[in-house]
Amino acid sequence: MRAHVVTFGCQMNEYDTHAIQSELAGLGYSLVEDYHDADLVLVNTCAVRGKPVEKANTLLGELRKQKQQRGGHLTIGLMGCLAQLPEGQRMGKKFNVDIMLGPGAITEIVPAIEKGRFQSFEFKSELQFYSPPPPQGAISANLTIMRGCNHRCTYCIVPMTRGDEVSRPAADIIQEARALYAAGVQEVTLLGQNVNSYGLDLGTGMRRKHLDGYPSFGALLRMVGRTGIPRLRFVTSHPINFDDEIMEAIADTPAVCRYIHLPVQSGSNRILKRMAREYTREFYLERVSRIRQLLPDATITTDIIVGFPGESEEDFQQTFALYQEVEYDTAYLFIYSEREGTAAQKHFDDIPKAVKTERLGRLIELQKQLSLQQNQKWVGREVEVLINGAAVEEGFVQGHTRGNHVVMLEGHLPPGIHQAQVLHATPNRLYCRAVGADAPLSQAHIKGGRSLPILPTKGLS
Ligand code: SF4
Repeated sequence: MRAHVVTFGCQMNEYDTHAIQSELAGLGYSLVEDYHDADLVLVNTCAVRGKPVEKANTLLGELRKQKQQRGGHLTIGLMGCLAQLPEGQRMGKKFNVDIMLGPGAITEIVPAIEKGRFQSFEFKSELQFYSPPPPQGAISANLTIMRGCNHRCTYCIVPMTRGDEVSRPAADIIQEARALYAAGVQEVTLLGQNVNSYGLDLGTGMRRKHLDGYPSFGALLRMVGRTGIPRLRFVTSHPINFDDEIMEAIADTPAVCRYIHLPVQSGSNRILKRMAREYTREFYLERVSRIRQLLPDATITTDIIVGFPGESEEDFQQTFALYQEVEYDTAYLFIYSEREGTAAQKHFDDIPKAVKTERLGRLIELQKQLSLQQNQKWVGREVEVLINGAAVEEGFVQGHTRGNHVVMLEGHLPPGIHQAQVLHATPNRLYCRAVGADAPLSQAHIKGGRSLPILPTKGLS
C-alpha cells in the first residue's frame, strides 16, 4: 500500500505530518512522492489563513476526480485544523472524503484507516502529544512543547481548532531533544502557538505558578540548551509573554539562536484593540528596545496583517512607521482574510481589495529596503552557517545563519555547521564563502601539483 501526505500550513502542520508519516510506516505503507501513485492521500491543512484552505479545496477536487476515475479505489483523508472546522466538514462531504481527523487526533489515524469510515473527532487533549522517531538524515527538526492557545485574537481560529494551552512535561521534551541530537540533528525548533507561556496552563491566579516538571519557558530553554544540541530555536512568541527572563535565558545559553519572531500584527492601538492583541504599540516597542539592549545582534522578524476591518489610512501609517522604527530584518505580510467563526467576523470587512493590495505593496517596498539595509550590515563578518538544503543556484549550497538569514555558500560543502564570511548581501540572501577548515584553497595554497578548483563567485560583487 502506498500513501502520500500533503501539508498546507505552518511548522505545527509539518510536525504533525511527520508524525502521520511515522504512523503510516508502522501500518506498512510506503510513502510516495506523487499522489497519483498513492492508494491513500492525506491532506493536512492549517486553517488560520485563507490560502491553505483554498489549496486544500482545489486538491480535494482533483482527488475526488481521481477517485471516480479509479472506480472508488482511492482513500482520501482531510486532517489538521481545517478538518476540525464547519468549513472543513462541509468540504469533507462535498469531496467525498473518507477520513476526517482534527489536529488533536493524529494518533487515531491507524484505527481510522482500518475502519475506513468518515469520522470527525472532537478535540481530545489526551491525544495531543507524541514523539515521532527522528526524521532520517535530518539536520533540522521540530519539537512540539505545547499545543493550543489561551489568547483570543479576534481574527484567529486556533483556539477553536487546537483548544486551550496544554504544556508537555519538560522531561519528555528533554528526552526527545536528546534523541534528536543522538540521531544527528543539529538544530531543533521548539514549537507551540505561544511558546512563551509554556507551563502556565498548569497554574492558577494572576501570577500563575509553574508546577513540578513544568518550568518557565526561560528555564526550559536553559534545560534544552544543555542537551548538546548546537542550535535551538523557538516559535511563536506573543509579545505580552515575552518577558525579561526569556531574554536573559537566550543571552546566557549559547545554543539558543538570537532569532526573535515577535508578531505585532498592527502598529495602531485602535486596531490592536479590535484584534484583542492585549498590548499597545508602546508596550511592543518597549519589548523591542529591551531585546536590542539584552541581545544586541538579534534578528527580529514579525507578522503583519494589512487591511483588518476598520483600518484607516492613518492606522496603516502607524503600522508603516512602527516597521521603520523597529527596522525588522524581515516580516511575513498578509492581507486580512475573514475566517468563518472568528470574532472578527462581526466587523464588516470594509476595506476594498484594491486598498489592501496597495497598502501591502507599500509595506513590501519598505521591507525590501530594510531587509537589504539589515543584511548589508553582515557583509565582511564571519557567520556560522547550517547547510541543510540543496543548492538553488549553481555552484552554491544553501543554509542559514543563527539569525535565520538564508545563505548561499560557495562550493559543495556537506550538510552540517560551517564557518563562513559574508561577501555580498541582497534583501533575501547572504552570499558567503567558507573560512577556517572549510575554506577553499587558492592557487597559492596548491602544492605538489594537485590542483583544486577555484570556486565560482557568480552573483557576487
Ligand atoms: S496568540 Fe492570537 S493569533 Fe496566536 S494562536 Fe493565539 S489566538 Fe491565534
